[in-house]
Amino acid sequence: MTEMENIFKPDDKNIEKAAKIIHEGRTVAFPTETVYGLGADCFNPKACASIFEIKERPLFDPLILHIDDIKKAFMLFKEVPCKAEKLMKKFWPGPLTLVLPKTEAVPDIVSAGLSTVAVRMPKHPIALALIRAAECPIAAPSANKFGRLSPTTASHVAEQLGKGPAMILDGGRTTVGVESTIITFHENKPVLLRAGGLAAEEIEEELGEKVLRPVISGNSLPSAPGCLKKHYAPAAEMKIIKRGDKTEKDKNTAYMAFSEPPEDFGEYGIVKILSAERNLCEAAANLFYMLHELEKAGIKKIYAEEMPHTGLGLAIMDRLKRGSVK
Ligand code: AMP
Ligand code: MG
Repeated sequence: MTEMENIFKPDDKNIEKAAKIIHEGRTVAFPTETVYGLGADCFNPKACASIFEIKERPLFDPLILHIDDIKKAFMLFKEVPCKAEKLMKKFWPGPLTLVLPKTEAVPDIVSAGLSTVAVRMPKHPIALALIRAAECPIAAPSANKFGRLSPTTASHVAEQLGKGPAMILDGGRTTVGVESTIITFHENKPVLLRAGGLAAEEIEEELGEKVLRPVISGNSLPSAPGCLKKHYAPAAEMKIIKRGDKTEKDKNTAYMAFSEPPEDFGEYGIVKILSAERNLCEAAANLFYMLHELEKAGIKKIYAEEMPHTGLGLAIMDRLKRGSVK
C-alpha cells in the first residue's frame, strides 16, 4: 500500500465508515478549520493511547476534545463560569479551545492526569459530520509527529503519519491554518494558554477585559503543558529576522516575508510571501503550508520576517519562535 492509499474523499459513505472506525477504537485523521486532527473516541482510553503512539507524543501533553454541540461541553466540564459560556456562545463553532475543570467522564489519559480538560467545537462541516456520526466527542491533537510542522492538507498527514491513522479524510487545505487559541480562567480572569486562530483582541472585546498572558509576564498563572519551547519545527533551521537584516543567501536558503519580497530576492533559493495584502488571517493560513513547501524543496535555512505582534500575528510569531529554537 502506498502512503496515499488511506486518503479518502469525505462523502457520506466515507464519513460513516470513519465513524465506525472511531467506534471500533481506532483513529481517523480529519480536517478542521485550523489544522488536520488525529481523532479517537475520547471515552476509550486505549484508542486515545494510540494517538500518543502514532504521533510519538509524550503522555504529559493533554488532548483537545472536539464536540458538535455546545450542550455536550457540559458533560465534559464540571464547572462553566459565565465568562466561559459567553465565549462559547460567541465563538463556537470556531478556533477557540476552553480549558476548565473536567468531569469524571473524561479519562485521565486525555487530560494527561490534570483535573482540567480542553474542549472546542470546530467550524468545519466534515469535522462536525464526523463527530455527529461517531456519537461521541472526538479527542484530536494535530495529525503530525510530535514537535513537527502541523498539517494543513491530507497529504501532509500522510507524509508524516503514513498508515498510522486507519483513514484520512481529505477536506482540502484548511482555512485558518494555525491551531486554536486556548483560554482558561484563573480567579475568574481569562488567561491565554496558547495564541491561535482567534485573535486575543476579539476575546477581550467580548469579555470587556484584558486576557492575561502567562508566557509574556512570567508570573504564576496556569500554563499549557504541551507548549514546549521547541515545537512546530520545520526540518530546516529557521531564524526570525527584521527586514534588512544581514542573511546568508544561496540556493539552500529561503526568505519568508510578510508582504513584500526582500530587495535581493533573486539570491535566495526560494522566497515566500505570506500575504501580499498584509492580511494576518491569510498569512496564518499560509504559514504551515509554505513551511511544508520549503521543507519538501530541501531548503536548509529559512529566514522568517518578524510579524506584527497583534491579532493573528501573535499566533504566527509564537509558531515562528518555537519553530526556530535549536
Ligand atoms: P494540539 O496538539 O494542538 O491538540 O494541542 C493540545 C494542547 O492543548 C496541549 O499541547 C496543551 O498545550 C493544551 N491543553 C490541552 N489540555 C490542557 C489542559 N487541561 N490544561 C492546559 N492546557 C491544555
Ligand atoms: Mg499539535
